[in-house]
Amino acid sequence: MSKEIPQFEHTHIDAIPGIVKAARTAFRSHRTRPLEYRLKQLRKLYWAVSDNADAIIEACTRDLGKPVTESIMTEVGWVKNDIVFVINHLEKWMKDEKPDDIQLTHKVANPRIRKDPLGTVLVIGAFNFPIQLSLGPFVGAIAAGCTGILKPSEGSPNAAAMLQKIVSSSLDPEAYAVVQGAVPETSALLNEKWDKIFYTGSPRVGTIIAKKAAETLTPVTLELGGRNPAIVTKHADPRLTARRLVWAKTLNAGQCCVSQNYTLVDKEILPQLLEEMKIALNEFYPRGAQESLDYGRIVNTQHFHRLKKMLDDSNGKILYGGTMDEATKFIEPTIVQVESSSDSLVVEESFGPFITLFPVTNLDEAITIANEVCDTPLAVYPFGSKAEMKKVLDETRSGGASLNDGFFHACLPTLSFGGVGSSGQGAYRGKTSFEAFVHRRSVTTTPNWLEKLLDVRYPPFNQSKLRK
Ligand code: NAD
Repeated sequence: MSKEIPQFEHTHIDAIPGIVKAARTAFRSHRTRPLEYRLKQLRKLYWAVSDNADAIIEACTRDLGKPVTESIMTEVGWVKNDIVFVINHLEKWMKDEKPDDIQLTHKVANPRIRKDPLGTVLVIGAFNFPIQLSLGPFVGAIAAGCTGILKPSEGSPNAAAMLQKIVSSSLDPEAYAVVQGAVPETSALLNEKWDKIFYTGSPRVGTIIAKKAAETLTPVTLELGGRNPAIVTKHADPRLTARRLVWAKTLNAGQCCVSQNYTLVDKEILPQLLEEMKIALNEFYPRGAQESLDYGRIVNTQHFHRLKKMLDDSNGKILYGGTMDEATKFIEPTIVQVESSSDSLVVEESFGPFITLFPVTNLDEAITIANEVCDTPLAVYPFGSKAEMKKVLDETRSGGASLNDGFFHACLPTLSFGGVGSSGQGAYRGKTSFEAFVHRRSVTTTPNWLEKLLDVRYPPFNQSKLRK
């Protein structure tokens, strides 16, 4: 298999209206509606991802220093898995749905819900999991019978170039296309009329997208960032908790929307947890993270400096790590103990490998702080007794939650994934990806023979009609 990666090139802004028009014309031709068409596109996409796996992995290495195994697990394998799951269930999902508890007298009109494709859609991806976060929603759009444009993140240009190669070599070229670029190109895309915009990225840009979409009453799904708390009580298993939280903050060098942003930990267990975290880091990277092929890099120097400043601004105490190398955009997994909820490492989403520990005296204090910092994060991660973990679920809100783990809930194609409030709206994965791009169209059919009974609804109204 070739590792050749095409050159990343911005799409000419003047070409954008024509690309969108072609996708809209393809939708209006109705050819994307039949099951067979959708399955054919999905199968071709699957094989394009599979055939280009080596080049995708190489692209992720160039963009993010992504370890090969991570790219297989979280990009190539992840997307292939999702496509197979959708292919296996699509026929069932496309079937009309019958409403529950329908009155006998209404049954004659055959009430049902069709799953109609929304139309021509725009999918905007983020840089951190450039393949997964772009193709994941795009697969949903194809499955739903939509046509659409994919705008990958320019932050991962090699992966973006691979996405263009994959889409253009496998999918119906009028119905599906990739537009490359940054703010000017995305702004030009947002000036077009869409039937849905699916955006993954920061809350700041999410607000821009939502405002623009509101001008044309375009529905949006927003998959935004999280300031996710982990909460560790004194009843948690220190070794297990440490390994799971260290994994969740070192995958993709912490550039992961579902990673815990900070960990509220009972003072009693903190020393043990800290020791176990150090052990876990030494086990994961026996020659140190900098020497390890299993540890990624920060995406670009802008994010490197953002993270460096964040650590400089923090009043926390570094307990492990802290090494940085601008030339290679390396930031060591770094454990920091903070003492205030206004610390930069708590208030802002770090999106980097900072393992922030925040001591608390009990679970109630942890829950209060978590709710004050952000009352609608993308996820929460409680570790403790069953009752304590349930208490965290009952007394917080979040897009999702993994109990006794870091972001396991986000790894299953059968569970829908999404935020709530400031961490997003709408969801996708598995069936939800399909549902994100369909309109549930309520339909009835009134038989001719019903006319005698329906006579009651026509004027002139009189007493005899009411008695009928
Ligand atoms: P970003 O918001 O900077 O960029 C995402 C996309 O928006 C890119 O395609 C970019 O070209 C486009 N964009 C940037 N500025 C724009 C503007 N002014 N107008 C229009 N489009 C614009 O996000 P990012 O840096 O790629 O990703 C990091 C953020 O995304 C973090 O906050 C992270 O938590 C979040 N994220 C969320 C999820 C999720 O599933 N909820 C997944 C990954 C990342």
